[in-house]
Amino acid sequence: MMLIQCPWCGKRDENEFVCGGTTHIARPPSAVTDAVWGAYLFFRENPKGVHLERWRHTWGCGQWFNAARHTVTHEILAVYRMSDPVPDLSAGGAAS
Ligand SMILES: [Zn+2]
Repeated sequence: MMLIQCPWCGKRDENEFVCGGTTHIARPPSAVTDAVWGAYLFFRENPKGVHLERWRHTWGCGQWFNAARHTVTHEILAVYRMSDPVPDLSAGGAAS
């Protein structure tokens, strides 16, 4: 069982959370081609390594937040609020 750090509630069981997919995706302006719009809607990177994701503490406080998760080890390197900038991950430390 994995513990996930909610920025508001602290460490909780993974069963209380839902992953919302890739975060920091910029919505294109309305006047774009169908190909650009389709790419925005349907195509996401699937990296082997650190992935920035949206998570929701659905069965807790209900808040959305961002997490930097390693897709191979599932280690969560950092969690941060939606309004916060991406933290510096170069130190490689795990979220506390
Ligand atoms: Zn919470």
